[in-house]
Amino acid sequence: RSPRPLSDLAPDELDELLASTREDYEALRTKGLALDVTRGKPSAAQLDLSDALLRLPSTTTDRSGTDVRNYGGLAGLVEIREIFAELLGVDVPQLVAGGSSSLTLMRECLVDLLLFGGVDSPRPWKDEESITFVCPVPGYDRHFALLEELGISMVTVPMREDGPDAAAVAALVADDPGVKGMWLVPTYANPTGAVCSQEVAAELAAMPTAAPDFKIFWDNAYAVHHLGPDEAKSADLLGLAAASGHPHRPVMFASTSKITYAGAGVAFMASSTEQVAWYLEHLGKGSIGPDKVNHLRHAELFGDAEGVRAHMREHAAIIAPKFAEVERVLGERLGGLGVARWNSPTGGYFVSLDVVPGTASRVVELAKGVGVALTPAGASFPYGRDPQDENIRLAPTMPPLDEVREAMEVVATCVLLAAVEHATVGSGRDR
Ligand code: PMP
Repeated sequence: RSPRPLSDLAPDELDELLASTREDYEALRTKGLALDVTRGKPSAAQLDLSDALLRLPSTTTDRSGTDVRNYGGLAGLVEIREIFAELLGVDVPQLVAGGSSSLTLMRECLVDLLLFGGVDSPRPWKDEESITFVCPVPGYDRHFALLEELGISMVTVPMREDGPDAAAVAALVADDPGVKGMWLVPTYANPTGAVCSQEVAAELAAMPTAAPDFKIFWDNAYAVHHLGPDEAKSADLLGLAAASGHPHRPVMFASTSKITYAGAGVAFMASSTEQVAWYLEHLGKGSIGPDKVNHLRHAELFGDAEGVRAHMREHAAIIAPKFAEVERVLGERLGGLGVARWNSPTGGYFVSLDVVPGTASRVVELAKGVGVALTPAGASFPYGRDPQDENIRLAPTMPPLDEVREAMEVVATCVLLAAVEHATVGSGRDR
């Protein structure tokens, strides 16, 4: 039978569907599942790809003969910066290699801006009456939590397939000097998989802002995380911003968390040379140098930028089938019913699922009831509030393939059940 949209069903047909979907759901309960598709973590098989790191580095000195075991080299080992400068499209002097977490670098930059102000700030951000960031949604929950903790307000703009709605951003930043920055995951965005085009990046780089020190936190966490041959090229925000006369606007971040080890990789920050100097000046009060042993072993593992690209193809071989399975199950179970939309990412770590508005929390609750943990509804929005209650982030990389399949079968049943409940309640009848 070819699927018919719920909206085409007569009341008695809806009732029938409700009864049969409830039966399917109850059957799931007896399975005793314990599945988790909440966080974008690499699987053990992916981590294994980098286990040569456990026997590296092969030497204790870098190319210049400096002992990497000792203090020093605040900006990070040149060998690893060269490799990632090429991959991220920046010059080596503009790129800092630090500890294992790029999120920590983002936090440091924000805290420095608050306490001291940036190279182009009239005063420390803490002395402003209020500070607001523009947040494309759906977006990354930890970005929002970080701002919330620091007392920075958030306003949202829609994330589209080619990046944020640039006109909406431009309107928000034009007159209010308290709007100091924005987040953007430019390539294979968390969670929508969107890739910011060079055109959208150019608009963001050039737009007039009331704040003279407006920052774009360009979190390129998934720059090289392609799932197949269709490889997105990241927009060159640093180049575009410099050309538009706003060289200090972008602060770029990246890391090897999903390239090597999520807990023991290398994180990067890139910006104008002045802004990098500003960052290092403050960093230097809290560090005598980064873990250069880790930098060197990473440089040896990869050899060069092509080594990273080859390594990422091995990741894709492991995770692309999981993404394909999500696509297959959702398509077969929900296609044509008019109860859900989801993206088919060509890279990154997530699938963004939009269900019938008003039912996302119900879907997450239903899934929990049969042993499947989903990211809380609303997580992809500031303050955890999805005004439409429709978005759910799916993270298929960590569980084995058969668990991804089982989890998606559950998701499909729960999405449908919540939709039918909603439709029958909406028509004034009992659920
Ligand atoms: N940015 C984005 C967009 C992410 O999805 C993640 C990880 N989920 C991070 C940053 C965290 O990066 P790191 O491990 O380098 O702190």
